[in-house]
Amino acid sequence: MKKRILIIHTGGTFGMVPMSPSSVLAPEKIASHVLQYVPELTRIADVEFAFVFNLDSAEIEIPHWITLGETIVANMEQFDGFVIIHGTDSMVYTATALSFMLRNLPKPVILTGSQRPLAMIRTDARMNLINAVELATYPIPEVSICFDNKLLRGNRTIKYSSTDYDAFRSPNYPPLATVGIDIHIENTHLTPDGAFEFLPQFQNDLLVLRFVPGLSVRFLEALLHHPPRAIFIEALGLGNVPIQNNAFLTWVENLISQDVLVLVGSQSPHGGVDLSRYQNGMELKKAGAIGCGDMTTEAAIVKTMHLLGSGLHSRETFSRAFLEPIAGEISSPR
Ligand code: ASP
Repeated sequence: MKKRILIIHTGGTFGMVPMSPSSVLAPEKIASHVLQYVPELTRIADVEFAFVFNLDSAEIEIPHWITLGETIVANMEQFDGFVIIHGTDSMVYTATALSFMLRNLPKPVILTGSQRPLAMIRTDARMNLINAVELATYPIPEVSICFDNKLLRGNRTIKYSSTDYDAFRSPNYPPLATVGIDIHIENTHLTPDGAFEFLPQFQNDLLVLRFVPGLSVRFLEALLHHPPRAIFIEALGLGNVPIQNNAFLTWVENLISQDVLVLVGSQSPHGGVDLSRYQNGMELKKAGAIGCGDMTTEAAIVKTMHLLGSGLHSRETFSRAFLEPIAGEISSPR
């Protein structure tokens, strides 16, 4: 018997119509548009369509994540898997948010999209959608991203290229599946270890800061008057900042003395953070900053929003939860 797959449309390049790039698909046209270009989907599964919004993914915010989560929860019993058509620009953030909201997910939720619209010659949309729908019939109960013949864990993924068909990378975790003439399931996926739960909690009291050599701390000092609840610093290498000129470090110490959660990530997508390796990271750790291990910047940011939204505000409870995997987004505390 064929599996039942719900295809949820949210927008992005995928559904754009050539010759009038600004024209959007009307809700009632989604199914016929997709089935006109990819009729073989019905040979893979019993597909149904849902339309939640039609946006460039740059427009997507926390309420959109929650609407998507609610759509999946409302349809969980009726379908065997879910495919979300989404713009590529913020796909990783949506996938990550869903992975934290949909705890102990029992069925596959696969996001896909394309670099060229479905209706254009040389489009990557057709193959991406066929692969996503087929993979959604497999028992891979995770929120993942299917793109260019790979299935990647959503909360481990980064958007690497704004132009190549091979647009996504998973720098610190192997693929969940690869597609060639055969589909290879790599047995790297999660299995639920408890009852399915929906936790749509996010709070965005967070600022993201990329450290660069020569950064003027003068501008940062203004933040000490109205600090956010958490600051995520994209530091150098394994999580290093200067200590000889200690203006930046002193700023961090001042934040922490005001009970701001200071989180440290890396500008290097591969390898992660280890604040014990160099003196320059160690000083951040001594000041009370929390390294984000091998989480991507995207995962660490969305996780911070999720933990703050769940009411974890004290340094101890936050830091313990931050370093524990929720949905496979971090390997092991360092
Ligand atoms: N700007 C588009 C979006 O993210 C790009 C895409 O879909 O690839 O919605």
